[in-house]
Amino acid sequence: MNADCIFCKIVSNDIPSNTFYEDEDVVVFHDIHPIAPVHFLIVPKLHVESLASCDETHHGLLGKMLLLAPKLATQLGLKGFRTMINTGREGGQEVFHIHIHVFGGGETLPKI
Ligand code: 5GP
Ligand code: ZN
Repeated sequence: MNADCIFCKIVSNDIPSNTFYEDEDVVVFHDIHPIAPVHFLIVPKLHVESLASCDETHHGLLGKMLLLAPKLATQLGLKGFRTMINTGREGGQEVFHIHIHVFGGGETLPKI
């Protein structure tokens, strides 16, 4: 828990979120500023700043987060989706608590 971290506050229920999946390791909630009809964030309960601060000890957690993406996307009716992990300020990261974006559900996503 990092007292200054907005996602830690969501994990601890200190601020509300639209959480629709939770287990002992992760919470998953809808992004407050969605960029597609469905846009959710897979967030570990453990405060880790970014993918760049992960090491071998996070191997299982990262695998679990990634495997959740298709399961939850399917539950929300998506037939396809995009995953994104912004890493570092230059990588577009704004919340420094690692998370996987999962989004889709509109027009076919543009090639990047
Ligand atoms: P980043 O740019 O760090 O990869 O993504 C952070 C994401 O978190 C953004 O898409 C932003 O809309 C979302 N976000 C930031 N604060 C909150 C919040 O308080 N609640 C929810 N549900 N999403 C948030
Ligand atoms: Zn945090």
